[in-house]
Amino acid sequence: MAGYKGHIAAALLGCGLLYLFPFWTPLPWPGKAACVAIAVFFGLWPDVDTKSKGQYLFLLAILMVNLVLLYRHEYKRAAYLGLLVILPLLSRHRGWTHSWTAMILIPGGLYLAAAHYRGGHPADFLPYFLAALLGYASHLVVDRF
Ligand SMILES: [Zn+2]
Repeated sequence: MAGYKGHIAAALLGCGLLYLFPFWTPLPWPGKAACVAIAVFFGLWPDVDTKSKGQYLFLLAILMVNLVLLYRHEYKRAAYLGLLVILPLLSRHRGWTHSWTAMILIPGGLYLAAAHYRGGHPADFLPYFLAALLGYASHLVVDRF
């Protein structure tokens, strides 16, 4: 069982596979940095169902987003976000957050939401989606050993 440092290292290695895709070279450096951050985040995220560094970072990120939503008086969105945060906390460790289905559905849902709400061409978000997939997959692979 790898700790958070092992999962971060694996996510960075997984993120290195992005060099194989043709979109990587023309991607500006802030986009590349975002891809690395996304891969590391999703490399830690599956352990959100247990007391871990991933859970701490996830809850900290959600707290920041929720504070922004409350500041903007977007109470309905803040409430839905709060409901979604509870779901992984209710499951057993290495339950659904450690499934290949979740690896597709969670980054995929975020990809579709980003493409819908941010506008632009869906292909613009593909590097970030792949970074999330590679980070998530690295966690699942490392946990298998
Ligand atoms: Zn895990």
